[in-house]
Amino acid sequence: MRYLISVIGAGTAGLIAARRLGELGFDSTVYEQKQELGVPVRASGILSLTGLGRLGVDYSGCVTNVLYGANLHAGGRTLRVVSKKPVANVLDRKMLNDACYRQAEKNGAKLIMGRRMTGNALDELSKGGIVIGADGAVSSVARHFGFDGIKKFALTYKAEFDVEAPESGIVDLFFDKYSFNGLFAWTCPNRKDLLEVGVGLCGGMNAKEAFMKFLRNKEILDLVGGRKAVAEGASMIPLSMRKHIVDEKRRVLLIGDAAGQVKATTGGGIIFGGSGALIAADAVARHIKDGKALNSYETEFRKKHDLDLKLHSVIHRIYGSMGPSAMGKMISTLNALGMSRFLSDYGDMDRPSLVLKRFFLRRLAR
Ligand SMILES: Cc1cc2nc3c(=O)[nH]c(=O)nc-3n(C[C@H](O)[C@H](O)[C@H](O)COP(=O)(O)OP(=O)(O)OC[C@H]3O[C@@H](n4cnc5c(N)ncnc54)[C@H](O)[C@@H]3O)c2cc1C
Repeated sequence: MRYLISVIGAGTAGLIAARRLGELGFDSTVYEQKQELGVPVRASGILSLTGLGRLGVDYSGCVTNVLYGANLHAGGRTLRVVSKKPVANVLDRKMLNDACYRQAEKNGAKLIMGRRMTGNALDELSKGGIVIGADGAVSSVARHFGFDGIKKFALTYKAEFDVEAPESGIVDLFFDKYSFNGLFAWTCPNRKDLLEVGVGLCGGMNAKEAFMKFLRNKEILDLVGGRKAVAEGASMIPLSMRKHIVDEKRRVLLIGDAAGQVKATTGGGIIFGGSGALIAADAVARHIKDGKALNSYETEFRKKHDLDLKLHSVIHRIYGSMGPSAMGKMISTLNALGMSRFLSDYGDMDRPSLVLKRFFLRRLAR
C-alpha cells in the first residue's frame, strides 16, 4: 500500500520529522497554518549542547549566544550553577525554524503554507495515509482524533530589551510562588546587547500582569528601566505529556508540544520534541516497510525519555509548592552541601537521571 504522510505544523518538531522521513526515503507533506515560517517568535531558544547534538539539525548559523550556566534566586539566596565550559546555546528561533525547513526540503519534504488543517481535512489525510500531529500546545489534531488532554500548562509573557546583561553567558532564574505560581521569571542574554526578560506561571494570575510586576523589581528595573521592549508577547507551554500519543487504528501520531514532550521544570521542549520527531519518523518507516505497529513510537519514546520527563515533573512539583522563604532555605542547604560545585561540574539540563547517577557514583567512589 502506498501511504501519504502528512505532517501538521511546521515548527521544529514537524520539520525534524519531515527531514528524518526524507532521510529514510519517504516523502511527506507539511501543512502550516501561518503564511510565514517561525513568526511571530514567542519562545526562547536555550538548548543544551548535548541535546542539540542529538537532533541532527544544522544550527550553525542560528547561534546568538553561548551559555555557561544559571543563577537560581529565591528568598534572597542564590545557587550558582556555572560550568567552565559552554553548556548551552541561545538560538534565534526564526533562524532555527528556517534551518529545519531547509533540511526537510533538501530531503524531499513539501511544505504547504497558509493551510490550517482541521475536521474533515484531517479525516481525509488519515484515511489514505499517516498523520503526524506537530501542531503545538493547542493541537487540533489531538482534539479532532480524541486524544486525552494535556493536564498542565504554563502561561508565559516575555520581551527583549536592547541592554547588556550583567553576565553575558549566564541565565538568571527567579523563583517566587506568589508572583510566578508554579514556574519562574527569567532573564537571558539572547545576544551580548539583547536581554530577554520573561515570566511563566501555572495560572492564578495574568501572565502580562505578573511580567509587569516583575519589571518593577529593583534588580530588573536597574537593568531595563526606561527601555522600550523590542519584541514582546504571550504564549503557553504544555507541562505534562498526554496519556497516549498514537492512535494505531487511524494512523495518527503526536509529536513535540502536541504530545506534551516538554521538560516540566523549565518548559523547554525542542530537545524532547525533536527526539519524539525522530523516533516517530523511524516508527512510520518501519510501519510502511515491515508492517510494524506505529505504537512502537510511543513505546520507544517512553523507554528513552519517561524517567527523565517524570523526574522533571517531580522537581517541578517540589519547587512549585514552595514559597520563596522555603526555596531560599533549600538553596542555602544545597549550597552548604556543595551542590553548586557538583551541579556546575556534573549537571545536565535535560537528563536529571544522569545527574542522580553521577551523584550516587561519586558517593560510592568516596
Ligand atoms: C516563552 C517560551 C520560552 C521557551 N523557551 C524554550 C527554550 O529556551 N528551549 C526550548 O527547548 N524550548 C523552549 N520553549 C518551548 C518550545 O518553544 C516548544 O517546545 C517548541 O516550540 C515546540 O515545537 P513544536 O514544533 O512541537 O510546536 P510549535 O513550535 O508550536 O509549532 C507548531 C506549528 O503548528 C502550526 N499549527 C498549529 N495548528 C495548526 C493546524 N491546525 N494546521 C496547520 N498548522 C498548524 C503552528 O502555526 C506552528 O507553526 C519555550 C516556549 C515558550 C512559550
